[in-house]
Amino acid sequence: MSISAKLKLRNQDLCELCNAETATVEYTVSPKNDDSIENQVAICETCLKAMDAEDADFHWRCLEGSIWNPEPSVQALSYRILNKYKEKDWANNLINSVDLDENIQQWALSAFEVPDVHKDAFGNILESGDNVVLTQLLNVKGTSFSASKGTVVKKIKLVHDNTEQIEGKINDQTIVILTKFVKKSL
Ligand SMILES: [Zn+2]
Repeated sequence: MSISAKLKLRNQDLCELCNAETATVEYTVSPKNDDSIENQVAICETCLKAMDAEDADFHWRCLEGSIWNPEPSVQALSYRILNKYKEKDWANNLINSVDLDENIQQWALSAFEVPDVHKDAFGNILESGDNVVLTQLLNVKGTSFSASKGTVVKKIKLVHDNTEQIEGKINDQTIVILTKFVKKSL
């Protein structure tokens, strides 16, 4: 891995997290991309390894310094790592003592967001094209028919902005079905 001269210069060759070792790695803070050093942090090998470690609690005391770095990318990465250790008093105290810009906080915490998924009544993840079975009698609003428990609905579609709903065809009619009333057919 290489590091751009411009990024290296920003902290006089030193790692922007620990300020102790020479920076050798160009770290891009997700979800931003590497087209600008404003999205990046110059870090050392030790910090890079610590980021993957399960418990690098001791090493990350250095964030007590880097969280005050004027660069948004360094703040975001420091805040992100701190949040991984928020169960520890020192990290929690630090999180509570800084007043980061809201955008930077969002940037930092985006790493912990779980994408919305559609799940059936048993917690199985549903995808477009799946077949499902109704787990109870379904009265279809606005129509005269009902679908009995056990009806197979083939090739469902996920309702994009609502993880509790899917669309499927019953009797050639497309209807919205609640995910809690279906079971994925394997
Ligand atoms: Zn470092």
